[in-house]
Amino acid sequence: MPGVEAGCDVNAGRSAHDPRPRPKGYELAFLDSRMETPTSMTFRFSTEGTDFRYLSNQAVRVVLPWVRDPWGPGRMFSLSSSPTEEGQIAVTVKMTGSAFKEGLRDLRPGERARVFGPLGDLLYDPRRPAVFIAGGIGITPFRGMMRYAADMGGDQPIVTLYSARVPEEFAFQTELDRISRKHPQIDVRYTVTRPSESKVRWNGRTGRVEEEWVREALEGLTRPKVYVAGLPEMAQETLSMLRERLGFVEDDLEYEYFMGY
Ligand SMILES: Cc1cc2nc3c(=O)[nH]c(=O)nc-3n(C[C@H](O)[C@H](O)[C@H](O)COP(=O)(O)OP(=O)(O)OC[C@H]3O[C@@H](n4cnc5c(N)ncnc54)[C@H](O)[C@@H]3O)c2cc1C
Repeated sequence: MPGVEAGCDVNAGRSAHDPRPRPKGYELAFLDSRMETPTSMTFRFSTEGTDFRYLSNQAVRVVLPWVRDPWGPGRMFSLSSSPTEEGQIAVTVKMTGSAFKEGLRDLRPGERARVFGPLGDLLYDPRRPAVFIAGGIGITPFRGMMRYAADMGGDQPIVTLYSARVPEEFAFQTELDRISRKHPQIDVRYTVTRPSESKVRWNGRTGRVEEEWVREALEGLTRPKVYVAGLPEMAQETLSMLRERLGFVEDDLEYEYFMGY
């Protein structure tokens, strides 16, 4: 979202009935961080005392103005938190060693980041069954959506197909499995694409998100919506399969490309 800090009007063209809160700039205090996998971290920021609101599950642009990074001091992240987790937001970030991400890692509790949002329109529709397809770090918005559906007592089925290179890289696995045990309508299924690179044993599914696996996930769902998030190549391939081989039309699809890797 270039130019958002420069004051360009991201609200231009929005209808009066648009349910998304109007994005604007906030200065949010950093709360804490934790390692999520060997290569990803979650960063939480306080929204106490602000009017920051978002829908499940939007995104934000985080800016650390003091960071000197060749690609600028800000990055876009899906929120991995749920609107039901009040007073805070969280982003979960693939740590790549970029100056911006080292700036995030160096944040001290109480320090303020500029957060612009909420942005993005990968929105969960709680009235329809859902299949979430996540490639790697693309799980972030779906962690928020599953938490949201569980906290809101939603009764529509959700099947999540989550692929990662190695099992160590499944973020939120313990929490997602706990949600799914407590809420039988939420089912999380995993696949590992490079099991030989793993340091731990994996007895589960291997291989990419293939047509037959998606068909299985869709079995028994009436008018499901399919949501896809991940790196552009994975997301585009999956969307082509859904459109061309499984007959999905735009109304049934929601997606987000994690550009920038
Ligand atoms: C809607 C959306 C949601 C996202 N959600 C998440 C998320 O939840 N978690 C997460 O980890 N990431 C997410 N991303 C990706 C994130 O915004 C960063 O782009 C990504 O993390 C890479 O940042 P970096 O600092 O590691 O990479 P860097 O290598 O420092 O690159 C930073 C930026 O510079 C640009 N760039 C780098 N190299 C080149 C080049 N050679 N030519 C042109 N441009 C270049 C890239 O476009 C990139 O945006 C999301 C992106 C989008 C668009």
